[in-house]
Amino acid sequence: MKRELLNNVFNCIEYIDREYGTRNPYKIAKIENIILSPTKLPACTLGISFVHGDTKFILVNSKLSETGRHFTSLHEIYHLINNHNSSNNTLFLLTNCRVKNTEIEKEADLFAFLCMFDYETDELLKISPDYWEVKLDEFRRKYLII
Ligand SMILES: [Zn+2]
Repeated sequence: MKRELLNNVFNCIEYIDREYGTRNPYKIAKIENIILSPTKLPACTLGISFVHGDTKFILVNSKLSETGRHFTSLHEIYHLINNHNSSNNTLFLLTNCRVKNTEIEKEADLFAFLCMFDYETDELLKISPDYWEVKLDEFRRKYLII
């Protein structure tokens, strides 16, 4: 995991702390008028986010555990806040698959993880990027299996 990636996540967490005063995805969705709903999705897809007209949507795989849904909601909020969906690249619609191969996907996962466990942002940059990679893998194996 790259240092630059940690910086992006750091900046985004600072932004949501300042802007929303909460790291709870359901509260953020409410403030942003994001329609967030558990939905029957293929097993490889944990969640989907997209913008249709003026409305933002997050669909979360209803087969996930509560912890998995919480994480996935945060992951998708990261995409929406950073406008990862606003380009014409519809690939982003199906990003939250279990195979996390792009930097943006790793960023979104790390964001979700840190928000869930309420890490202080200064801890994020003190600890080595490899540590977060290991922590994320543990989390995925435990909670993101359908
Ligand atoms: Zn994603």
